Amino acid sequence: MKRERKTKKRGILRWLLALYAMLLLAALLFVIDGRHVRFYLNGPAETELALGSAYEEQGCRAVSAGRLFGEGRELAVTASGEVDGETLGDYARAYTARWLFQDYRAVRTVHVVDRTPPEIVLQTRLGYAPSWLEGYEEEGFTAIDNVDGDLTDRVERLEHGENVDYIVTDAAGNTAAVSRRIPYSVGRPTIEPTGGENLEIPAAFSFTDPGFTAADAKGHDLSAFVTAEGGVDPTRPGRYERVYAITNRVGDTISVTRQIDVVPAVLPEAVIPEEKTIYLTFDDGPGPYTGQLLDVLKEYGVKATFFVTCRYPDFFDMVGRAYREGHTVGVHSASHNYYEIYASEEAFYEDFRRCEELVYKQTGQHTTLFRFPGGSSNTVSSFNEGIMTRLTASMNAMGYQYFDWNVDSDDAGKTHTSWGVLKNIQDGCEGKDYCLVLQHDVKDYSVAALRDLILWARENGYSFETLSMTAPTAHHPLAN
Ligand code: ZN
Repeated sequence: MKRERKTKKRGILRWLLALYAMLLLAALLFVIDGRHVRFYLNGPAETELALGSAYEEQGCRAVSAGRLFGEGRELAVTASGEVDGETLGDYARAYTARWLFQDYRAVRTVHVVDRTPPEIVLQTRLGYAPSWLEGYEEEGFTAIDNVDGDLTDRVERLEHGENVDYIVTDAAGNTAAVSRRIPYSVGRPTIEPTGGENLEIPAAFSFTDPGFTAADAKGHDLSAFVTAEGGVDPTRPGRYERVYAITNRVGDTISVTRQIDVVPAVLPEAVIPEEKTIYLTFDDGPGPYTGQLLDVLKEYGVKATFFVTCRYPDFFDMVGRAYREGHTVGVHSASHNYYEIYASEEAFYEDFRRCEELVYKQTGQHTTLFRFPGGSSNTVSSFNEGIMTRLTASMNAMGYQYFDWNVDSDDAGKTHTSWGVLKNIQDGCEGKDYCLVLQHDVKDYSVAALRDLILWARENGYSFETLSMTAPTAHHPLAN
C-alpha cells in the first residue's frame, strides 16, 4: 500500500517536469519568433496632395508576423489623422492595429502643396493700333495667385519682335506665361542692305553706299527712318563695318551690319627692258616751250612721257597734241603747290583728280600713271609726317602707278644751261641699262638740250620708250 503511493507520487512529478520543459520550450520559441504587426501601405508612405483637392485614403493592411512562423492572420486597422486639402501643410495619417494587447502604428505623411500657377489676364484697349515707330503702349494686365494673391507687380514683361511675353512665378514655384501679339498697324521692319551684308569694293577715291531697303511684313516702306553709320575709307584697303539702324520712339532698335572689304588693286610687274633704253620724262608743263619740244620729238620720231600740271591754261591743248603724237601723258599735279597738296590725303586726291580731269578732257583717256611733285622721296612734305608713306600705298592700292627717276638733269636745280643739262644726263646714264630721265619742259634751256641728247643717245645705242604700267618705276626710298 505504502509502496503504491510512492509510485503514484513519482509519476506526478515526472509529469510536472515534462510540462515545465514544454512551457520553457514554448517560451523560447515565442521569443525567437518575435511576433509583431507588419503593415502594408497602399501607395507611398510620403505623398503630395494638390491644394484644393480632397484626400483619398488608399488604405493599409496589417498582419501579425514572426521569424519562425511567418505571417499570421489579417488584423483590423483603424486610420486616424485628418488631411485638410484646403490648407497648405504637412499631415500625418496614422494606421493602428492591435496584437496581443498592444497597439502597433504606421504613418503616412501627406504634404498639401500649391500646384496652381497664378492666372495672368491681359487687357486690351478697343481700337488701339499702334505703329512700331511710335512704340507699343502697354494695355494692361493682372496676375492673381490662389495662394499669394495679387502678383501683378511681380510679372516679368519681355517685348520682342511683335510679341510681348508676360511671366510670373508664385511662392511655390508655379510659373504662368502668356503672350500677346502687339496690334501694330505698321509693324517692326527688317532692313536689307542692297548688294548684301558682305560687300567687296576695289580701293577708289570715293565710296557710294549702295543703300538698303527697310519694310515691315505688310510692305510698309520704312527706309526713310534708317540711319547709316560707320565710315569707309575707300582709299585704304581693309575691312570696314557699316551699321544700318532704325530706332523707334521707345528705343527699340533694329539694325543690320554690313561688312565692306576695300580690296587693293594688283599692279602689273615692271618689265625691265633688255636693251639700253631711255625714258624721257618732262614735268611741270604744258608751258610755252612744250610745242617746240614736241616739234623736235616729232622730227626724230622719239616718244616721251609728260607729267602735266594745270598751271598754264594757255597751253592745255599741248596735252592733247602730245597724246595724239604718240606720247604718254600722266598726272603730275594741278597746282604743284607742295603746302596745299601735301596738307592731307584729301587735298592730294582733290588736286590729283583735278589734273587727271585735264588729261581726260585733252586726250579722251583716263590715265593711271603719275609722278609726285618733288618725287616720292621728297622731304618738302615733312610738315605732314608720313604723308608720302600713306600716299604711295593708297595710290598703288587704287591702281595708280607712280614713277620717280634714276637720272636727274638738274634742270630745276643749279643747272641753267643746255650743255649742263646734256652733261648731267650723259653722266647720269653712265653704266645704267635703262634711264628714267627727269626734265622739265617749262625750262627753255632743258628743251633746247633735246636735239643733242637724242643724237648722243642714238650714237650710244639707246632706244627711246614711253612709260606704261609695265615700265620700270625707279622708285626712290621713301623719306617721309
Ligand atoms: Zn614738278
